[in-house]
Amino acid sequence: MTSATGIYIDGTWHDVAEHRENINPSDHSDVIGLFGRAERSAVDDAVDAASRAFPAWWRTSPQRRADLLEAVAAGITTQADDLAHLLAREEGKTLPEAKGEVMRAAHIFRFFSGEALRVVGERQASTRDGVTVNLVREPLGVVGVIAPWNFPIAIPAWKTAPALAYGNTVVLKPAELVPASAVALARIIHEAGFPPGVFNLVTGSGSVIGDAISSHPGIAAVTFTGSEPVGRRVAATAVARLAEVQLEMGGKNPLIVLADADLDIAVECAVNGAFFSTGQRCTASSRLIIEDSIHDRFVDATLARLAQLHVGNALEDATDIGPVVDERQLDTDLHYLGIARETVGSEVHGGEVVERATRGNFLTPALITGARNDDIVSREEVFGPVASVIRVADYDEAVTVANDTEFGLVAGICTTSLRASEDFQSRSDTGMVMVNLPTAGVDPHVAFGGRKGSSFGPREQGAHARDFFTQTKTAYVRP
Ligand code: NAP
Ligand code: MG
Repeated sequence: MTSATGIYIDGTWHDVAEHRENINPSDHSDVIGLFGRAERSAVDDAVDAASRAFPAWWRTSPQRRADLLEAVAAGITTQADDLAHLLAREEGKTLPEAKGEVMRAAHIFRFFSGEALRVVGERQASTRDGVTVNLVREPLGVVGVIAPWNFPIAIPAWKTAPALAYGNTVVLKPAELVPASAVALARIIHEAGFPPGVFNLVTGSGSVIGDAISSHPGIAAVTFTGSEPVGRRVAATAVARLAEVQLEMGGKNPLIVLADADLDIAVECAVNGAFFSTGQRCTASSRLIIEDSIHDRFVDATLARLAQLHVGNALEDATDIGPVVDERQLDTDLHYLGIARETVGSEVHGGEVVERATRGNFLTPALITGARNDDIVSREEVFGPVASVIRVADYDEAVTVANDTEFGLVAGICTTSLRASEDFQSRSDTGMVMVNLPTAGVDPHVAFGGRKGSSFGPREQGAHARDFFTQTKTAYVRP
């Protein structure tokens, strides 16, 4: 009998009537647990608790807030191996990838523990004699957090930690596919000793709980990560009631390989960026833009490297690439591969569904050669182990193609030319640029985010998170 997990409101776990099975994508016979599908009214309860907790939390000394966040970082670190196992089991990334994500969550809590103590204001002279102007940063109130499935602990962490550090209270809704890691995080937050109501977790579907968070008048700000269509909807709902909103959405991230690149570095960047974590990263390199004279060598070396990678059960040591997260996402990946196979001029290498000892969603990495930038597969986010190879004549065409997309999260370039590296950092129409590095894999202590259809609102992470999670107040004083 699998035990059922409820929702966490006002410092207490509450049962809910309906549940959903959380299934291991590497092994469909492995049910991780039953997780609550709460009703809309649970969001009302969570917002009530968070609103009641807010005034005291705001006035809590920053040292106390820092200590509590540090205790969460320590709790995550102590349990890192168990958390990584749980994460790999529910989401399907490999154990080393899962461990990396868990440690990132710990580092984020530690970083924002320090940030809690660094909320500085400004004081300056007024233009009027005898008057001073004080600018302070204040929290927003109750923050709603809506998270996707592909980073089950890191994304809840990188939204929750700054929200709490700056004195806000939180209602978190994780994705229904991956509630277990969020529940584990909630338990660690509980054990750290936060006052009741400061952090609340409501599990359930996006159309019910996500929508309730976007539309609740008691939620001052909504921070969302997920797909572009859902993000647009969340923003429209939140902005209609003049709530603050921050969106991190999809990508169609280019990796340019110039003729002067170090081929080994280029192949490693492409394979890591496009296929590790099963390609299920918003920062994945899904368009490989290759200069003509290195194209054939790059394709041959990449296919040779892909042939060495083992797709399999995320919990097994031999596995390099875990399963696709669920059958729906697998259908999406296969749908796009079908389109690519029918596209005249393009050829799909790999992209086969394979069987392993356990029943899971195993798909080999797919490299689409002969692709063009206006092919459907080069324009829409697949969110799987699928990358298009687009041949270009020279650097200028590469930059034009790289920027010719609805998205603008991250772009990479592999080159040994200092000139090209400098020029591309300036011409790339993205929020992030990588030189001789995979497009995926960012640091937790610096600003993260994109442009165009990839992001909306202030940056996440690092000290820039303050721009979203605080509001300024300007006071004029005549003593
Ligand atoms: P999604 O389907 O858009 O879901 C994201 C979250 O929104 C989930 O918690 C979902 O709930 C919820 N949701 C669904 N419908 C909603 C509604 N009507 N109102 C409010 N919330 C709603 O995205 P996903 O499939 O989980 O994640 C993959 C996407 O995330 C990709 O597009 C990827 O690029 C993007 N992503 C972006 C970043 C970034 O930082 N830019 C990072 C990681 C992922 P349920 O799923 O539980 O129903
Ligand atoms: Mg989804």
